[in-house]
Amino acid sequence: MAKQKKYVLTPAQERKQKDGKKKVSVKQRLQALRYLPRFFTMIWETNPGMALGNAALRLVKSLLPVIMLYVGKLIIDEIIMLAAAPAASRDLQWLYTLIGIELAMAVVSDLLNRGIGLLDSLLGDLFANRTSVLIMQHAASLDLEQFENPVFYDKLERARRQTASRTALMSQVLSMVQDLITIGSLAVGLIIYYPWLIVLLIIAVIPAFLGENYFNERNYSLIFSWTPERRELDYLRYSGASDQTAKEVKSFGLNNFLTQRFKALSDGFYLANRKLAIRRSIWGSLFALLGTAGYYTAYVFIVVQTVGGAITLGTLTFLAGSFGRLKGLLESLLNRFSRMADSALYLSDYFDFFDLKPNIVRPEAYLPFPEKITTGFEFQNVSFKYPNAEKYVIQDVSFVLHPAEKLALVGENGAGKTTLVKLLARLYDPTEGQILLEGQDLKRYDPAQLRQEIGIIFQDYVRFQFTAAENIAVGRIEAQEDQTRIEDAAHRSLADKVIEKLPEKYAQRVGRRFDNGVELSGGEWQKIALGRAYMRDAQLLILDEPTAALDARSEHEVFVRFAELTKGKMAVLISHRFSTVRMADRILVLENGRLLEAGSHQELLAAGGKYAELFSLQAEGYR
Ligand code: ADP
Repeated sequence: MAKQKKYVLTPAQERKQKDGKKKVSVKQRLQALRYLPRFFTMIWETNPGMALGNAALRLVKSLLPVIMLYVGKLIIDEIIMLAAAPAASRDLQWLYTLIGIELAMAVVSDLLNRGIGLLDSLLGDLFANRTSVLIMQHAASLDLEQFENPVFYDKLERARRQTASRTALMSQVLSMVQDLITIGSLAVGLIIYYPWLIVLLIIAVIPAFLGENYFNERNYSLIFSWTPERRELDYLRYSGASDQTAKEVKSFGLNNFLTQRFKALSDGFYLANRKLAIRRSIWGSLFALLGTAGYYTAYVFIVVQTVGGAITLGTLTFLAGSFGRLKGLLESLLNRFSRMADSALYLSDYFDFFDLKPNIVRPEAYLPFPEKITTGFEFQNVSFKYPNAEKYVIQDVSFVLHPAEKLALVGENGAGKTTLVKLLARLYDPTEGQILLEGQDLKRYDPAQLRQEIGIIFQDYVRFQFTAAENIAVGRIEAQEDQTRIEDAAHRSLADKVIEKLPEKYAQRVGRRFDNGVELSGGEWQKIALGRAYMRDAQLLILDEPTAALDARSEHEVFVRFAELTKGKMAVLISHRFSTVRMADRILVLENGRLLEAGSHQELLAAGGKYAELFSLQAEGYR
């Protein structure tokens, strides 16, 4: 096998692997706690009844331990008293009553546990579903620009990864409150007999708490700083094993390349994580020893007191039991607190995502979108550069798109044609200059209404792995039940011929991802995608390379129908095929983001400029 270059971690990744983690201060951790109310509001809104029921069950449950321990003490004291009494005068009724109470409480405690577990998991599922929906909705409200930003993707990723674990946080916080009540009730018993035992207890558990706290923070920092790599890992996993990539992975033999890369990255993360896990486990054992030592100190003290006759045997069991329980509870409380503070840190990422606001929004006082556009769109000295990019990809472009006009955009790859139509649909706003609609700045309209009136089919349209009908209906999803409209759109885009051949016609799932899906050829997909434009029936139609994958006959037919359909409407076409382009009323020639020439096919040919040059180049190829 040919030797392959080994994928190595970048220096930054190596640093991270060693220790270059994001430091999180105690202050930040405490600040993160302020997200808890917001978090609980979300849980409450998910299902108030379940949330309330959960809290009520936990409240009852929290008081049971101290009562059970106390009944245990009464039982032992009673047994000892009865054993000392003469057999004839023994009355066992009180003892049986006590045992009956203990049994009842054991049963109730069990039922409560089940109830709490059930509510936790049901509420957790509901909450996870609701958050997934919220994430999808919020992501959809954001600007395209934000999707192209890696920082945004990391946030989205962290928010997404957290939906499931956030429900664990809910149980954690509720359990914490429950434990607090239990601790309070147990502590009262201890204080009545020997208050200083409480002090001993606290000394025994504090180190463990601090240790946990420290390691949780490290862990968060580690995961935080590795988010991009974890995203890449997911991507590699996907690329290495998916229907979309299998073809190229196989024919180019990319398997090793991908797995090597995956291994290097995942090993990097594993090693960083392992180091932390080992340290955590060593320190954790040491701190646990301290706690155990504390417990036995207290135990010896109580035993000595009992032997000396200061307290009864029943009280010994009560106190030893209380101390043991308290120690366990305090430890888990402090750990929980630390984990909660930690989860709260994740929460801040989560809410950070929800706090992202789109820039392209409807203004307070917006203009109603014209029923029928009468003066058209006007680009006034528009320049644009993509966010975080240096270079302007549109430079000082001015032109008017008149009502009923068919405009074609021509230019070499990267000239800025697609960018221009993205500006028209307000997927981005111009960096300089402005775009007018009916003489008013486009920004003064509601972007949602604008997009309603624009039908745009991108070059890289999405091949939804849904049914054929749905794939067309996405052009106007509100009308997805309107079969006539869908079939009409299919007819106009020539997709009907494709669909007729499918075993289940319009109800056929297309694409290979799911069972019984049928894959289509590039041209067939394109006809379906074109159907979306007809489905949309908007005032302005924009087609970006709509016929690139079509054969010559289909292309011709598509255009005859397109011309019919868009009669009286505005249309923008991007194409490299001059047979398509020449049908436009006017052609704009772009070069490096600048408007070079404009005119009809004949005019531009006569002018003998760039257009004429490109045209004769293509004609040459056919000769
Ligand atoms: P055309 O459609 O004429 O082929 P585009 O409008 O797609 O050209 O692209 C114009 C230029 O803008 C290209 O140089 C491309 O690299 C750049 N570009 C396109 N999309 C983005 C983006 N989302 N972020 C940054 N640069 C982009």
